[in-house]
Amino acid sequence: MKSPIEYLRFHRLASFVIGIALGSVVAVFAQDTTISAGASNPPKEEGKFRKSELIELIKLDPTIRLDVRYAKSNNFVGRPLYKEERAFLQRPAAEALVKAHRSLKQYGYGLLIFDGYRPWRVTKLFWDVTPAALKKFVANPANGSRHNRGCAVDLSLFDLKTGKEISMPSEYDEMTDRAYPTYTGGTDEQRRMRDLLKQEMEKQGFTVFSIEWWHFDYNNWREYPILDIDFSEIK
Ligand SMILES: [Zn+2]
Repeated sequence: MKSPIEYLRFHRLASFVIGIALGSVVAVFAQDTTISAGASNPPKEEGKFRKSELIELIKLDPTIRLDVRYAKSNNFVGRPLYKEERAFLQRPAAEALVKAHRSLKQYGYGLLIFDGYRPWRVTKLFWDVTPAALKKFVANPANGSRHNRGCAVDLSLFDLKTGKEISMPSEYDEMTDRAYPTYTGGTDEQRRMRDLLKQEMEKQGFTVFSIEWWHFDYNNWREYPILDIDFSEIK
């Protein structure tokens, strides 16, 4: 499968330059050069938050499939950022996700999870390696991400019969307008699949991100704090 960077390089002239820019920033990062960015610690937030209860998704339903790209090298940074291929969400979001997964069965599909809870330090790393022109696709660490609260999930569909990932109008983490859930290009079938995913997730209380068809926020995300713990520290 092509990485987003490969897409940027091979498919669009305008994006070619951006792809090269992203590639060189990643290369710089790979050499362990420190790149300065605003926040160096998670933001301090006022107010009362619910107690975090991160649940491993496959413990609620082992038929949910994982392809956690940040635990592998086929992500936009080009190297693994997680030590373990695991995915967690806060309990209400995790339970809603399982409902969407089970509802999709009637159409012959299941949920394929790319990412759930993400430690704040990884959000900061994404910000640091992404060029300014593409920063709208990554969360500002000064505010934190809804992934840091365990209330956002990146996902797609897989075919229950073949086990294969379903083709969508763009690749996961592709930083182009093909990623928009309102994008009118691609094939009819790709858009139909993207819209089915959105329909089933929104039925369960998730909202799709306006520029990424794969990213969904659970409606109570404001109630949870920004976290920066490792998967291995989750009880
Ligand atoms: Zn996301």
